[in-house]
Amino acid sequence: MKPAGVVRKVDQLGRIVLPKSLRKRYQMNEGDPVEILVQGDHIILERYRPKCVFCGSMESVSDFKERCICNQCLVEMNRLT
Ligand SMILES: [Zn+2]
Repeated sequence: MKPAGVVRKVDQLGRIVLPKSLRKRYQMNEGDPVEILVQGDHIILERYRPKCVFCGSMESVSDFKERCICNQCLVEMNRLT
């Protein structure tokens, strides 16, 4: 991890403005979901990508009854029926 060379203050509601250059570089657009991760003393922002509820995979994930499931788990489930 390296510093982005930017210092911002947290406002009274806990908000921080991400510099436009970083939003552009990491393709974060208005309305995009962002996941907040923690690692030790660090807070990490990541573009949100849906993960399979069963195996955590981010490959070929689709929605099923408001949950995310990957193709591999879907195939395995179909084998059970
Ligand atoms: Zn899966």
